[in-house]
Amino acid sequence: MRLYSTNSPSHGHPDYVEFGEAVLRSLPADNGLYMPENIPVLDDGFWQEWKTLSFHDMACRVVSTLLQGAIPEDTLNEIIGDALNFPAPVVTLDNQHRVLELFHGPTLAFKDFGARFMARVMAWLTRDDDHTLTVLVATSGDTGGAVASAFHNVPGTRVIILYPSGKVSGLQEKQLTALGGNITALEIDGSFDDCQRMVKAAFLDEPTARACNLTSANSINISRLIPQMLYYFESARQLETPPVFVIPSGNFGNLTALLLATHMGLPVTQIVAATNVNDVVPEYLKTSQYTPRPSVATLSNAMDVGAPSNFARMRELFGDDWKAMTENITGFASNDVGTRAAIREVYEKWGYVIDPHGAVGYLAAKAWLANHPDDTTIILETAHPAKFPETIAEELGPDVLEIPERLACLASEPKVSIPMAAEPDALIAWLNQA
Ligand SMILES: *Cc1c(COP(=O)(O)O)cnc(C)c1O
Repeated sequence: MRLYSTNSPSHGHPDYVEFGEAVLRSLPADNGLYMPENIPVLDDGFWQEWKTLSFHDMACRVVSTLLQGAIPEDTLNEIIGDALNFPAPVVTLDNQHRVLELFHGPTLAFKDFGARFMARVMAWLTRDDDHTLTVLVATSGDTGGAVASAFHNVPGTRVIILYPSGKVSGLQEKQLTALGGNITALEIDGSFDDCQRMVKAAFLDEPTARACNLTSANSINISRLIPQMLYYFESARQLETPPVFVIPSGNFGNLTALLLATHMGLPVTQIVAATNVNDVVPEYLKTSQYTPRPSVATLSNAMDVGAPSNFARMRELFGDDWKAMTENITGFASNDVGTRAAIREVYEKWGYVIDPHGAVGYLAAKAWLANHPDDTTIILETAHPAKFPETIAEELGPDVLEIPERLACLASEPKVSIPMAAEPDALIAWLNQA
């Protein structure tokens, strides 16, 4: 499998890199995004039996077809089995509404799929390097937790997380600081921007980057999208007819993963891109004008993105053809008043507790179904509602939420962090002696 950068100057003759390089570098030097040179279509043999294969066998067939030998079959089988060891059930509310629950992983959000696969792929890529791989991440909340959990106990790796002291929620902080082992949390006396600046400085300090074998777990890493294709296959095969997928979106990685799946042949009726008021993609679909802007804070905070990083990939997958994109993707945006109303409506109609991100999806599904009442929507529930206890209690009262064991037990774990000044030199000095 070869990849090119979406910013390649000459599209006819881009510089290609192999899969391993794209994963370990994360971002091409020209600041574009890595895209597969070609996306193979799954063959007839696959489609004859895809509904009867085990999840594991189906997953291995899909990924190995895409990777075209970049990872040997037996290794890939092991990585997939190990990374995707939790379910993604489809809950039927009624015939029009299904909910795909993507929160059964260790940090209760869909980011576990991508992060766990990436961690194991990186460990395999660096297996002959006797040098420990150091993953450096700055986090404002959720991504750090998913990355820390994904790399926890993965041999040959360690994770250094920088987070702004006092600026992440208590539970988020525990997800970063309670794991121990190969995970180290640096508590920075500054802002998230300071953390990012420090990480960047460490990468640019060539001797430190080399000595520590630094890599990034940036969310636009191509390896994170690959396992996200699999729950689309898994949920679609449970229906008689191709579904309408409704995707609560921020950076549009999840939606891009579905586009990769459809390029491999997965049949869908329509893709609905659901956003909160940070609606640059729905606006683009409506007007053909793409106007990134600063993000606005909402209840569905993981979708507060004003310049979606995967938009370049979406464009590329439609050959920069706005009309083609609008035929396949319908945009729908809603605000926090709608989100709150949707949380109540879903609970009143079906007794189902949906989180604020899924609620944005529900509203988009409703808008689609108003004109297409015979379709079946699959709404992605991207996080567990227990991650948003205040909002749920405000709408549904204090008693409906069940806190999963893995979240509840975090509260009593000790916090272990290393305090550090918001100075790039402090990080570089620490890396060189740690
Ligand atoms: C990251 C995230 C999203 C947005 O996903 P993208 O792939 O960035 O579009 C939606 N919901 C939750 C809970 C998330 O953590």
